Amino acid sequence: MRRERSRDTTDAPMTTQSYDVIAVGSCHNGLVAAAYAAAGGKKVLVLERNAWFGGGVVTRELTVPGFRHDQHSMAHIFIQGNPLLKNDELGLKAKHGLTYVFPELPMMSVFEDGSTLGLYRDRERTCADIAKFSVRDADAYRWLADKAAGYLPMIEASLYTQPTPLGATYALMDQSREGRELWRYMQMSSHDLLCSVFEHDRVRMHFARVAGENLVSPDEKATGFGTFVFVGFLEAYGIGVPIGGSGKLTDALIASIESHGGEVRGETDVERILVKNGRAAGVVTKDGRELLAKDAVIAALHPHDLGKMVDGLDPQVVRDAEATQISDVGCITVHAALKAPLKFRAGDHVRAVMIELLPNDYDTMRKSFDNLRYREFSGYPLVGLGSLTMFDSSRAPAGQATMHAWDYVPYERADGRDWDEAKHRYVKRMLSHMENFIDNVADNVIAYHSDSPVDMERTSSSFRRGDLHGIAATTYQYGAHRPTPDLGFNVVPGCERLYLVGPFQHPGGGVFGAGRAAAVRMFDDLGLDFEKVGARA
Ligand SMILES: Cc1cc2nc3c(=O)[nH]c(=O)nc-3n(C[C@H](O)[C@H](O)[C@H](O)COP(=O)(O)OP(=O)(O)OC[C@H]3O[C@@H](n4cnc5c(N)ncnc54)[C@H](O)[C@@H]3O)c2cc1C
Repeated sequence: MRRERSRDTTDAPMTTQSYDVIAVGSCHNGLVAAAYAAAGGKKVLVLERNAWFGGGVVTRELTVPGFRHDQHSMAHIFIQGNPLLKNDELGLKAKHGLTYVFPELPMMSVFEDGSTLGLYRDRERTCADIAKFSVRDADAYRWLADKAAGYLPMIEASLYTQPTPLGATYALMDQSREGRELWRYMQMSSHDLLCSVFEHDRVRMHFARVAGENLVSPDEKATGFGTFVFVGFLEAYGIGVPIGGSGKLTDALIASIESHGGEVRGETDVERILVKNGRAAGVVTKDGRELLAKDAVIAALHPHDLGKMVDGLDPQVVRDAEATQISDVGCITVHAALKAPLKFRAGDHVRAVMIELLPNDYDTMRKSFDNLRYREFSGYPLVGLGSLTMFDSSRAPAGQATMHAWDYVPYERADGRDWDEAKHRYVKRMLSHMENFIDNVADNVIAYHSDSPVDMERTSSSFRRGDLHGIAATTYQYGAHRPTPDLGFNVVPGCERLYLVGPFQHPGGGVFGAGRAAAVRMFDDLGLDFEKVGARA
């Protein structure tokens, strides 16, 4: 587990300290950008409000000693195509201890009647599972997976660098039949797409639940293309499970920064960015100290905080940032230390990274997402879970197990009750729902830790209102328009040398390592050669 640093922040006369680059927040995206800067020869300081590091990529002993829980992200999917890992640009795997396993079964739907449907890395195994429900749909999956594999290089080319301007992208798409087809998928809802591809409701539900992992209903327009993205990545890479926990990525990034003489400091809350002559010149901490950055400041600034943290910006830039929309749906999680591995009623073959517990009827699931739209609890809980001790026994004492379960809930409860006071009642609902699928739940739990949407935003200012994407994943907050057209390129008009990172930037929430895009831009501005970083790392 990443050591939690409790440092007396008054012990050093920091006002006199000066760095080349300061990063605000030890989020994985900020650490990625900072690690590239350090490898590029810059003197780097990372400042983190919490006593622990990693933002959404953290592993902690949340329950009892010896049980390591990924408090937020556990599935490292989209970062696998990032040259950061694909080419090991910073030596995170070769030098800094990052190791992944890629289980053969990334995701499995378990239906209440005990039937299952797996999404394997091996296409024919997936087809065999789908054929249990519909032979025609197995063929349709071959078509979908072929398409997804065809789109993958284009998708990968767009995820880890700055986005292309949207107007130019659409104009290009409009010039070919393939481009127009792609545009159509991008505008469709997942539900509409899945109904046009598959005939069986269970198969549709299986893929629709994947769309739901973005905190959106499958009925939401402009979510259709996500199915191609997910299938393309899962077949090409699977889901990476870091040995030792999600926080091992954070640890490796910190080790990389430290190996170049950089520093990562906890319990330091940054109140504002210091701006001099229209340029980011450092930061001011909550306890009033100034830390200077000669070249650049990298910051995980939620768009709603931009105006409070950066003085002198165009009021319209600030207003637009404050107007960005947060999802109505929040996340609640339960992390449990278990006496023994879970016993699924469906059978021992339920060994997937992500296990979705689903109703027998697709419309029941769709209606649950509808409930959330009206800020009600879902009629049928939308529980997903991972028990990663299945693949990494280092996370619990021998013979025991961990469980990470999640569900979607409104941030503001329709019953008016406070999450702090009523959270455990909801956890009981989740656990008792799980008993419909699993033989050993309640009597198996040694201890649990739960984060409501309110807890979630306390652990990271990014997870506002429990939105794990920082701001909603909608078309109008997408690509170069994420979070706003002004801020979509990781820079801030009116404040040079300030580089934005976090889930509210392109390509959105998730473990992407997208801080690389901010680093590329920063290297350009500083006249550094990004291509040479790999050689120095
Ligand atoms: C419950 C949950 C489950 C998830 N599961 C997955 C998953 O399985 N796979 C996946 O890909 N994604 C998942 N995600 C999403 C993913 O974790 C996040 O989208 C992503 O990690 C957020 O970006 P980040 O790592 O850059 O961290 P952020 O959360 O953006 O980190 C921000 C950090 O900066 C610090 N900070 C902010 N402001 C200041 C300041 N002023 N001063 C000092 N420090 C500051 C914060 O304390 C925090 O540590 C999940 C998220 C949640 C909440």
